[in-house]
Amino acid sequence: MSWSHPFPKSTITDRFGDNEPPRTNPHRGTDYAPGARALIPAITDGVVTRIFYSNILGWVCEIKTDEHGLYVGHSHLYCNKHDTINCNGQDHHDGTTCMSKLKVGHKVKAGQPVGRVGNSGASRGAHVHMTIAKKSDPRYANTFDIEKFIDQKLAAEKDNNAVQRQKETKEEIKPQPVEPEKSEPTQFDKPPKGIVAALRMILQWLKSLGITGK
Ligand SMILES: [Zn+2]
Ligand SMILES: [Zn+2]
Repeated sequence: MSWSHPFPKSTITDRFGDNEPPRTNPHRGTDYAPGARALIPAITDGVVTRIFYSNILGWVCEIKTDEHGLYVGHSHLYCNKHDTINCNGQDHHDGTTCMSKLKVGHKVKAGQPVGRVGNSGASRGAHVHMTIAKKSDPRYANTFDIEKFIDQKLAAEKDNNAVQRQKETKEEIKPQPVEPEKSEPTQFDKPPKGIVAALRMILQWLKSLGITGK
């Protein structure tokens, strides 16, 4: 199962746990600002569990990851219905959401877009607020540091790959079963002793029969 950061670290504008003023509470997510309307790729395979609007988080798309069953939240999304990064959730009472194609229950593959970067909800400047938690709903769940978590997953994958490579290398240099050398026909300088003795006996026997001359 592959994991990846949604955007380069250079686009992070506010990390998890940041508590600098004007914050009054530690930051519960990681903010990436790759540019308004940038497509946000799923960080791993999963299934859409929630799409909703909240006054704080704006438009949110939540994915439950296939591996580990964690809930990844993408907040402040751009609204497809109104084609704006600043949708305030109005005029969605007909059941429409900001997402045009993605619906709850849909599967997403790693890298597949789950929304676009917006500025909806209590957001100052277009960015996506990424969260990860063991429980659903980024408004209430205890979140942890998604950047660190992905770093750990990538490090683990790297280790696994290294182990795999090592295994493969070992297999490559494993001594091949050596075919037994074909024995050269033995060249006898002299017939083996046994044969000499046998011949001698035969000769003597023949001699005794008077068959051989001399
Ligand atoms: Zn809208
Ligand atoms: Zn944030």
